[in-house]
Amino acid sequence: MAIAPGLPHDRLGRPLRDLRISVTDRCNFRCSYCMPKEVFTKDYPYLPHSDLLTFEEISRLARAFATLGVRKIRLTGGEPLLRKNIEALIEQLADIRTLEGQPLELTLTTNGTLLARKAAALKAAGLRRATISLDALDDAIFRQMNDVDHPVASVLEGINAARAVGLGPLKINMVVKRGVNDHEILPMARHFQREGLTLRFIEYMDVGATNGWRMDEVLPSTEVLGRLQRAAGDGLLPTLAPLERAAPGETAERWAYADGSAEVGFISSVTHAFCGDCNRARLSTEGQLYLCLFAHQGHDLRGLLRAGASDQDIAAAIAGIWQQRADRYSELRASLPAESTAGARPRIEMSYIGG
Ligand code: SAM
Ligand code: SF4
Ligand code: SF4
Repeated sequence: MAIAPGLPHDRLGRPLRDLRISVTDRCNFRCSYCMPKEVFTKDYPYLPHSDLLTFEEISRLARAFATLGVRKIRLTGGEPLLRKNIEALIEQLADIRTLEGQPLELTLTTNGTLLARKAAALKAAGLRRATISLDALDDAIFRQMNDVDHPVASVLEGINAARAVGLGPLKINMVVKRGVNDHEILPMARHFQREGLTLRFIEYMDVGATNGWRMDEVLPSTEVLGRLQRAAGDGLLPTLAPLERAAPGETAERWAYADGSAEVGFISSVTHAFCGDCNRARLSTEGQLYLCLFAHQGHDLRGLLRAGASDQDIAAAIAGIWQQRADRYSELRASLPAESTAGARPRIEMSYIGG
């Protein structure tokens, strides 16, 4: 595939570097902040299989994105490890090279339930890293949050398996909901500091239209950091120092324990917008390109693929769409009228577009 002349920048001057691909809209969890079980029942209109992009279609699009400057691909969902034979897709993506001739930084975000079984095969297929979501160490709270009574031990096993096969550096994502799991902040921090793994605290976001989001359930990252610093003062954790950002477009503010044991991250999309250098595009399970997590509408790439467009046409179409992009929802959130932030317009679900 030829390289598109001149790399596209959007209307705010942001390049395209990071692609998140949702490989399924289904999940074996019902986290209330993402797929509340009252809404995501067995009668929910999940996508039929014929609507899903095939692995060949995903790989073809991924190649086109790589010619436009993408260096990192994250597989997500729904639960990506539920997609049958995901290893075959990973093998195809692992063959793709960036414009600089390097392999892509290939990673995925998973709830970890199938990781103990699949970690070795994922690594063998060419996966580099993994991010595992875990909201609590306390078994009762974890079972309540995933809302399918899934035990925490199986996710911890998955984390161990991923580490054992070398899917590192591993990151652990914890969505913090005030009054639900905020008392798990310190146990989680202590556990993963001792394990030497990066724990990232994610502010509960108003994504989608089904989770009944309320600002008073958001625990701002500054409060989380304050709690860690107080714990360090009490000798329960090593002290923390801020780190420089490693790359533009990075979602997390990073801090490191002074003894070098581990890092923590804060993803503060509610209280501290980071749209300024957001270089992420999102591809839905059925091949819609979204330019922002909070977009109302996607751009149909599957139609192009199935109409027989050439590789060059596809790359040109993506470049054209990216060049029109002006999204910066998190920066605007506070100034938007309530009806546009409260899910009045049908906003896409996190389980459909991926994190
Ligand atoms: N099922 C996989 C998982 O949970 O890791 C991948 C998909 S999930 C949509 C991706 C990430 O989004 C997870 O870390 C999840 O915790 C996070 N997430 C989902 N809904 C969220 C919300 N309302 N606010 C903040 N993070 C959310
Ligand atoms: Fe499933 Fe992940 Fe959403 Fe939880 S956050 S319901 S594990 S897709
Ligand atoms: Fe990027 Fe949209 Fe999130 Fe801003 S709100 S950081 S533009 S995905």
